[in-house]
Amino acid sequence: MNDAPPQIVSNAVTRRLTLHWPDGREQQLAHAQLRQACACAECRRIRIDGGALHTSDDVTLVDVQSMGYGVQLVFSDGHARGIYPWHYLAQLAETQVSPRDQAHGQTPGEA
Ligand SMILES: [Zn+2]
Repeated sequence: MNDAPPQIVSNAVTRRLTLHWPDGREQQLAHAQLRQACACAECRRIRIDGGALHTSDDVTLVDVQSMGYGVQLVFSDGHARGIYPWHYLAQLAETQVSPRDQAHGQTPGEA
């Protein structure tokens, strides 16, 4: 369902990554949010264990490497292990853009 966005633009000033999807939609993700949601094994394990990633809000994206099915993101704190598949990026962007619009009522971590 998620084809590769023909255009991905990282803005160092606003610290946002803009994804231009093939169907014309546009989604934005904050660099700090991407770092928080890092998809590498190490960071996933920390989240699964219920921990929080200790990342700075000032962290920025310094490089985007195309991996075909997604992108590998390199952050200013030196972390560069996470590969973000397209569907994962789309999901992240949706949870950010419309936090109130939770049709399935899934709010992990909240009692
Ligand atoms: Zn990671």
